Amino acid sequence: MDCPRDKTALETKIDRGIEIDQCPSCDGKWLDQHELDLLEDTVFVTELKKGTRMYAIRESDINCVKCNAKMATFNYRAYNLPVDYCTDQHGFWLDGGEDKEILNLMKKRVGDLKRSKSAEKAWNKNLLGVAGGKSIFERIKDLFK
Ligand SMILES: [Zn+2]
Ligand SMILES: [Zn+2]
Repeated sequence: MDCPRDKTALETKIDRGIEIDQCPSCDGKWLDQHELDLLEDTVFVTELKKGTRMYAIRESDINCVKCNAKMATFNYRAYNLPVDYCTDQHGFWLDGGEDKEILNLMKKRVGDLKRSKSAEKAWNKNLLGVAGGKSIFERIKDLFK
């Protein structure tokens, strides 16, 4: 397979246990359809919902490396990060660095969800007035000891 951008032959690499076809020239990466799921699974924990992945779908300027059909572009999870994909579900093309950006966005999202979860827990504890066996007032007093 050749790079859809600069026609350099793609090299197969193993990244986080996932087989990825990478362009040695522009650092773009081809992921088969299921491999984006695998990439996400390296970050997402199962209890967190993945949500909608594709936003603002439009025509791409590159062709699929497998069937050579015009690809489509979408914004990854409502972020301003364009990803190309084959409408026949052959896979995804990530321009150089985009896979790291996806992982960063996912980590941030997981962090946000965790934070809001623990904030919710803390709020519930405050509401009950008890945290770790002591009333919230005792705990505040403890802070000023
Ligand atoms: Zn390339
Ligand atoms: Zn295709």
